Formats: sequence, C-alpha cells, structure tokens
Amino acid sequence: MIKNREEQLDAGILEVVDRYPLLKLWGKYMQRASSYSHLFKWDNFPEPQNKKFAAWRKRRIAAAQSELGYLGYMISYPILAFELSDGCSVGCWFCSFATKKLKGILDYNTSRDYFRRIVQHCIDLFGKEQAGMALPYYRTEPHDNPNYIDFLKDFEELTGAVLCTSTAVGDDISWVRQLLDYYKRGPYPWPRLSVLSVDMMNKIHDAFSPGELLHAELLMQMRENPRPKVAGGRILKEIDGLRGKQDITDKRKLRVPQGTIACTSGFHINLVNRSIQLFSPCYTSKKWPYGYRVFDVSRYNDENDFPQVIQAMMERSMPLSPPLDKPLRFRDDIVYRPTEDGFDLLTPNQIHYFKGKEKYGPLGELIAAGDRTYAQVYEQLVKEHGINPIIIKTVVQRLFDGGFLDEVYYYKGDDKYEHRGTEQVSANGCYE
Ligand code: SF4
Repeated sequence: MIKNREEQLDAGILEVVDRYPLLKLWGKYMQRASSYSHLFKWDNFPEPQNKKFAAWRKRRIAAAQSELGYLGYMISYPILAFELSDGCSVGCWFCSFATKKLKGILDYNTSRDYFRRIVQHCIDLFGKEQAGMALPYYRTEPHDNPNYIDFLKDFEELTGAVLCTSTAVGDDISWVRQLLDYYKRGPYPWPRLSVLSVDMMNKIHDAFSPGELLHAELLMQMRENPRPKVAGGRILKEIDGLRGKQDITDKRKLRVPQGTIACTSGFHINLVNRSIQLFSPCYTSKKWPYGYRVFDVSRYNDENDFPQVIQAMMERSMPLSPPLDKPLRFRDDIVYRPTEDGFDLLTPNQIHYFKGKEKYGPLGELIAAGDRTYAQVYEQLVKEHGINPIIIKTVVQRLFDGGFLDEVYYYKGDDKYEHRGTEQVSANGCYE
C-alpha cells in the first residue's frame, strides 16, 4: 500500500499550503513520482528463487549502495534486461552505453514463440513475480522494433508485469500514442520521452494535451539543456572517466556526480544475437565505461539450451562463499586506508570503518595487495600471524556478503574477457 505523503505532513504546513492552490497542485503532481518509486522499489519484490542468484544480487545491491550512495538506494535493481534489437538506429550524442548501429531486430512474426519460451524459462528459473522485474530494452531503442508493444503484451500475459518504456523517438506521434494507450490503465510513470530537440518538444506538445501527458515524463536531452548527463559511454572521453578526476580521500572537496544510469542487477539477454551478460550497476569509470560491471558472459543457441546456459552461469559466477582459488582483493572502486586499529574503505560516496587490529590489521594489507588467492591469504594469516582460521573465514565471509570484495574474475582489461566457450563477448555486449 502506497503511503499518502500529504497525510504525514504537519498540520501547520498543510494550512500554509492550502493558501496557495497552485503550490498544492504542484505538490500533488510531484507526489506521484514518490508513489512510483515506492511501487518499483527493489525490496518490494521477492528474491529470485535460486539461492545463489538471490545471495549474489544482495551482494551487488550492497556494493552499489556503497559505491553509488543515494542513487544506490533509489534504483530498483531489476533482475533481467531483454533486448529486442541488436544495436540502435538513433545514435544520441549523450548515449551512456555508446550503443553501436542497428544490426537487426527480433521479428515478432517468426520469433514470437521463441520469445515466449525464453520468458517462460525465466519464470521457471526465478519465479513468476521475480521474472517480472525486467526491462524490455536496455541499451537499445524500443521504437526500432515495430512489434515492441506486442512483445510487451506477451510478457504481461505470461508474468503479469507491465514493463517500462523510455524512448528517444518522441516525434513519432503515432508511436507515442500507442505507448500512452498501453499505459493508460495505470497510472504508470511511462512512457518516458527523451526530448532531443526543441522541435521535438513542440511536436509533442502540439500533439498531446497536458492531461494525456500527465503521467508521461519528458526529459530534456538537448545539447544546450543544462540537465547533467552521466559522463559514460559516448561522452566518457570528454571527462576521462568519473573517478579519474576525484580525490576521494578528501571528502570536503568532493562533489560526487551521478555515477551511472544502469539499474539491472542480473542477466542482460540479447534475444537477437543470443548473448548473455551477468552485470550490475557500478560507478562509471574508464574500466567500466557503461556504468555497470560485467561478471560473466555467455551465449545460447536457442530456447532449448537457454536454461542450461543460465544455470551454468549461476553455478560458476554466484558462489555462496568466497571461492578459494580466486584472487582476494577489494572491489575496484575502493581505496584502502590502514588505520591504527584496522582499516577504512573509501568509495566515491562513503567511508566504511573496520575496527579490530587482530581481525582486520594484516588481513586488510593482504587484500589491498590483491596478489593472492583466498586460500593463500588464509594460509598466510594462520601461519605468519597465528590468527584463528575460523575468525579469518568469518571476517572474509562478512566482507564478501557486504559486497566489498571483487567478484569480477574473467575481465582481462581493454574490453576483453578470458576465453569462454567458442565465443568472445565484449563489455558492450557485442560478439567480436
Ligand atoms: S540513448 Fe537510447 S536511443 Fe539514444 S543512442 Fe543510446 S540506446 Fe539509442
């Protein structure tokens, strides 16, 4: 049940607001945004029914909250993102995902059954309500697929979920009308229109009444508009990454911009080129130019091997406890700072304190060095520092569960991954 914010306000404030009807109306209008954010808040949904996936996603959410600050608490962390196209025909100058040119779309007439079977597999793997925590596009433009709304309807029929839509093609009035029509059963906060020019804005306002656009969001994305952009993807070069410019050890001087536009923490499935990434939001950097980390990549042939491929990714990349043979190091956004009785971990948005010299002193140094596996660190701490192995494992598990440790085991830098199977996928989800 969504709480009425107005009811929570002090009577004195309400009395003052009553004297200004326009202000009151504006407040009511703005209230809808907070209602939506409650509706789609990540912890209002059940966990994925696979235990490994649920634990992995909890760690990723903890990591994103530590790294992204306020934004990390606002995003909804859907577990799935489907692409119904490969590439994008629009080519926005600010594209945070630097999406490549449109190469193909999923044909509804020939692939409807394939689409529905993939969705059904996701329901079987994660649960029906959980599979509804999805995006029907991620780094593509919905408008590129002429049957986009038909796919939305199929998805809704199978999962019960009404999915979101953002589009940068607001000047196709008939398309926007179809979207408004689909969402009118709401209110839903969609469609969201990226308005690319003043001409486009005028066209939208000429075509629709204020009432028709009441719940649609219009984002002014013109070059000359002061609306800040997340400087990733296509405009990453202009600022040399977000992290590169900051001294996160001096919080007084730090002004932290929005770190990413990514939100999904789970599987990114391109239904056209049949690639799958396991990814989660992070602070945009040169290493992660699209604002998400990629933990695993794979590929499926068709709807028949799809569930096995997903299962295999969950098995190898979502351990419940730290994998002994993998490197033990901090997340790559973290700056380690030793203290007299332990250590601090600094992220772009906050400081985490770990106190207790015996538990944290030598452990912090070894993790910060980042050149040993979990097993080697455990052995060294027992042999050289005489620390009780149960305490070590408990403390490391705590760091692991808190999302402080690096779990990217396959990324090799420069957009390359350790060879996996017969294909190679780059960080932007394209097969090389
Ligand atoms: S922002 Fe969206 S519409 Fe624009 S180029 Fe990127 S994917 Fe395409």
